[in-house]
Amino acid sequence: EDAMTELTDLQTKAADHLWMHFARQSALEAGQTPIIVKGSGHHIFDDRGKRYIDGLAGLFVVAAGHGRESLAEAAARQAKELAFFPLWSYAHPPAIELADRIASYAPGSLNHVFFSSGGGEAVESAWKLAKQFWKLQGKPMKHKVISRAVAYHGTPQGALAITGIPSMKAMFEPLVPGGFRVPNTNRYRAEESGFTGTTEEEFGIWAADRIEEMIMFEGADTVAAVFLEPVQNAGGCFPPPAGYFQRVREICDRHDVLLVSDEVICAFGRIGHMFACDAYGYEPDMITFAKAVTSGYSPLGGTVVNDRVYEPFRHADAMFGHGYTFGGHPVSAAVANANLDLFEDEGLLENVRTNSPLFRSSLETLLDLDIVGDVRGDGYFFGIELVKDKATKESFDGPESERLLRGFLSKELWEAGLYCRADDRGDPVIQLAPPLTIGEPQFAEITEILRDVLVRAQAQL
Ligand code: PLP
Repeated sequence: EDAMTELTDLQTKAADHLWMHFARQSALEAGQTPIIVKGSGHHIFDDRGKRYIDGLAGLFVVAAGHGRESLAEAAARQAKELAFFPLWSYAHPPAIELADRIASYAPGSLNHVFFSSGGGEAVESAWKLAKQFWKLQGKPMKHKVISRAVAYHGTPQGALAITGIPSMKAMFEPLVPGGFRVPNTNRYRAEESGFTGTTEEEFGIWAADRIEEMIMFEGADTVAAVFLEPVQNAGGCFPPPAGYFQRVREICDRHDVLLVSDEVICAFGRIGHMFACDAYGYEPDMITFAKAVTSGYSPLGGTVVNDRVYEPFRHADAMFGHGYTFGGHPVSAAVANANLDLFEDEGLLENVRTNSPLFRSSLETLLDLDIVGDVRGDGYFFGIELVKDKATKESFDGPESERLLRGFLSKELWEAGLYCRADDRGDPVIQLAPPLTIGEPQFAEITEILRDVLVRAQAQL
């Protein structure tokens, strides 16, 4: 540790000047931060030329895989034609075409697209839109938002107030007032949330009813919206129990509360559909998206809004006084259109739907290890929960988790050639969300690496 290895030129510049996101600067300064220089298909390469499987699609982003010529070309073509113009009172063809296309993919009356440059901004926009919508309806007190424990919804101070991870908020309190939390759909640890039933359906109803309870605790006249991910990412991939979203929809209708499906991760193929609400058969009032809409070849996010919420904004001098310079950026919108062409030409949604059960069964072979408590998820989106004692589901405490995840697993998985996420925002989990292009041989390869590293992690305990 003390004998610092000589830093390369890039490492030195990084240590001197680059501020990392959600990461320890000390690792950067010690030269321990990987530097990624190239991507190709489902692989990435570091500055030493070593190759890794991109098991997280960058950050749930690179759905179509790395190195796609048609996306790079779409960006270049648009930059030459019209590199930039805002959507502030002027429009441009790439944003118009993309809005039309997204509306055609979105269910029911979700027909209007408000673009941003990323997911947190899409969430922020959805909350502001909900607040204004209720003011225009003559219900100005409806402003609060309900979301779930451990859910991540972004870092702007509004979106962070919707986020359910206290440690992530602590340094920035007080945040925007009005965020309230209910239990999530972690079935593996349902009893710890207070659920006493047995079946999946009972659990779905129980978890949905916590939302109604919170609406009533706070007063329906003060609640604007409920924000839920189709499959909750943070905590390690919690799919919705059967019947959950149907019950949530009923509750929202009963109390006149908007339902926002935060699909920043789940939209555009992660769950095998353009929009994941389709996978689970519910129709929200708004959908937030980002990430995979461009496969990351250029940044873009947005909020899809239904006819009802849009209606009061259509008339005379009404407007949504909100926007982002780069929202719906022409290059990003052109890239998104080309990316969605790839989705259609290559049948990426079908690939995910066909292969998801194989991915799941491959990962489930790891359940014979003592350290693997649960394998869960959907589509190309899985979490593996690690436990200290499988029989009691006892989890690792803070320092153990730190040693296991940061000290051992992250490093060893990386060394073994697999980029994925070892996370402890809830209980310790390994998360996988690879490009949507892969299939059975890659599942086997990923599982083999995981097995080898987990066996060694187990032996360490
Ligand atoms: N909402 C969800 C569900 C997310 O997973 C994320 C990011 O991972 C965000 C919002 C924030 O998106 P961004 O990082 O693009 O601001």
